[in-house]
Amino acid sequence: MSNCPVMTTAAGNGIGDNQNSLTAGPRGPVLMADYQLMEKMAHFNRERVPERVVHAKGAGAYGKFTVTGDISKYTCAGLFSAVGNSCETFVRFSTVAGELGSPDTARDPRGFAVKFYTEDGNWDMVGNNTPVFFIRDPLKFSDFIHSQKRDPQTGMRDNTMQWDFWSLSPESMHQITTLFSDRGIPATLRNMNGYGSHTYSLWNDKGERYWVKWHFKTLQGIQTLTQAEANKIAGEDLDYHRRDLFSSIEKGDFPKWRVMLQIMPEQEAERYAIHPFDVTKVWPHKDYPLVEVGVLELNRNPQNYFAEVEQAAFEPGNLPRGMGASPDKMLQARILSYPDAHRYRIGVNYAALEVNKPHCPVHHYHRDGQTRFDGNFGSGVNYQPNSFDGPVDAAKYQEPPLKISGDADRYNHRDGNDDYTQAGNLYRLMNAEQKRQLTDNLVGAMKDVPKFIQLRQLQHFYQADPAYGQGVASGLGIDMKEVI
Ligand code: NDP
Repeated sequence: MSNCPVMTTAAGNGIGDNQNSLTAGPRGPVLMADYQLMEKMAHFNRERVPERVVHAKGAGAYGKFTVTGDISKYTCAGLFSAVGNSCETFVRFSTVAGELGSPDTARDPRGFAVKFYTEDGNWDMVGNNTPVFFIRDPLKFSDFIHSQKRDPQTGMRDNTMQWDFWSLSPESMHQITTLFSDRGIPATLRNMNGYGSHTYSLWNDKGERYWVKWHFKTLQGIQTLTQAEANKIAGEDLDYHRRDLFSSIEKGDFPKWRVMLQIMPEQEAERYAIHPFDVTKVWPHKDYPLVEVGVLELNRNPQNYFAEVEQAAFEPGNLPRGMGASPDKMLQARILSYPDAHRYRIGVNYAALEVNKPHCPVHHYHRDGQTRFDGNFGSGVNYQPNSFDGPVDAAKYQEPPLKISGDADRYNHRDGNDDYTQAGNLYRLMNAEQKRQLTDNLVGAMKDVPKFIQLRQLQHFYQADPAYGQGVASGLGIDMKEVI
């Protein structure tokens, strides 16, 4: 007799035949009474949840974060109280614009989202493999993404939409230069850096706040694909990066990143020449050197892609005691939009799913809602304040007050903002081969775009660095005199 368990319906009733439908005679028709057939088809129809509007295609793995550098004077977070502390993590890498079945080797930023299951609750670092972003005001986010997705008439990706938006949004110059550089297509997910991108904060028991930027430096070394290599791979293996990550971990080759921090005392933000909460800018290392904090290692593959990777829900607002957000407008909007997307996509109780739930006790008064699959806090009191020993708030979790000022208004974020120096700095640090790749990649993406858009964009390249503008203009067969 076989050792396989007996197959059942979802209610546990044994199934006698999973090969033949229940029919009136051998030629049919099928009978409505075939409960098992109906259950099978109905469940199959509901197998998909809506894919993420952005970052749909991803790969994930579990790992461990170990603290190697002492930052306890900056934060009272339990995780950072001593060198040697550690916690489990779950990481999801992704492309941004492509759908679930899109090729891994597209030129696109890569999502680099890390969930740290700390003893004080989850800390989610929902970053990218680039230190900056295309826009700085969240009011432009849906416009930006529409321009990178599909044309409303043809249903196709369209370079004209992309460059139309970018050329009208000079704040995108820094990120465009990163995206079209050699680092715009990583060789593997293991061979790229991660960045928190936004400015976040740390705070300590003395009530002092520090602004910080998180960096994850690959210990496998940066390796990239040329556009030609990436195109070829895309035609052969859509899941190239996902496959590489899974098989590396499966064979015990565990990727690692050195986790580093730039730290700015709270008051310095008012004096620093670079707007410290502008996600289109970096803090140059000479101003704020990198401080080592820890090592992240990925060492375990998920057992079930849907349960663990597709249902993984990251939120930039998941910040344990001693850690906080910043006034960065994009970050503030993401603190709303991420949990909002999860509620829509996987349901209001998403945080209680195995991959999302903290590795520490959870006590709150949220109740009921769709797919309440745990005990719903049983008979416990469901309002607060109460006289029956329900959970209570505790002042020690409150962040130090943040001084803010100014009139409520819609301020032009482009007024007096330098969108070119840092993009130019990036161009200038590239060697000749990297500059050649950057120029070729841009020319390839812009060659079919209407000339008035090319000219508008060339002005931005020229302002970042005249040689940068000249190089792309030559590739497009445009005389720089027309641009200047
Ligand atoms: P530094 O010389 O101290 O640092 C240069 C940084 O650029 C390093 O982090 C390096 O990463 C990274 N880098 C090198 N080549 C590329 C590339 N082709 N694409 C993306 N990043 C690359 O200079 P600054 O701190 O003054 O920054 C100069 C410019 O470097 C910035 O304008 C920005 O564009 C870029 N940069 C800066 C970062 C920062 O946080 N300051 C972070 C990443 C990029 P690595 O060490 O991994 O090789």
